[in-house]
Amino acid sequence: MKKECSIVRDVLPLYFENMVSEDTAAFVKEHLESCPDCAAEFESLKSGRQIDQAETPQRKFDANVITAFKKKIAKKILKIVAVVCLVFAVLLSALLLYTGISYPVTKDNISLSTKTDNGYHYIILETKAGKSLYFNSKTEDILNDQNEVCGQKITLYNLQYHNNFNFTKNAKPMSWGIPLNGERQYMEMIIDLENDTLRISTAE
Ligand SMILES: [Zn+2]
Repeated sequence: MKKECSIVRDVLPLYFENMVSEDTAAFVKEHLESCPDCAAEFESLKSGRQIDQAETPQRKFDANVITAFKKKIAKKILKIVAVVCLVFAVLLSALLLYTGISYPVTKDNISLSTKTDNGYHYIILETKAGKSLYFNSKTEDILNDQNEVCGQKITLYNLQYHNNFNFTKNAKPMSWGIPLNGERQYMEMIIDLENDTLRISTAE
């Protein structure tokens, strides 16, 4: 490489940036016109810088694309979360509605029976499967003619059915027991329904 070329190559970047004196610029320009090697070097320097300059907006564009993409994903996630929440809300309200609905209890929904087992009289109340029975109850002593306690009377009232998720064929029966050799000799149950009154006694 000629000495002149070497000098020109050193100042080429500065020449490109217009950071050389007028004399130097004139010298470099003249050399480039007569030296294809240095002219080629200058061209490659120019195109390299152009790529550099072009890269910045490209990066900005990439960043914008990534930001837009992130926003899109965030929106999608938000959408999914919203849908999941909605589904849960619907399921929960369906569940509450299903279990919250109460039905009037009719005498067809329940059956009463008595049983003597292991020293006890029992009154057994069987209910429809898949339904929960709610009620209030009160227990009173039954007195005989001599004003002595001879039995026990249980009254169920405000009976309501609610749905539950126990779909087994046979609902678990409820039972009330009284000892055979106790002070109270028998037990009576009165069930106050809206239009009916059911009655059963262990004495019968
Ligand atoms: Zn040269």
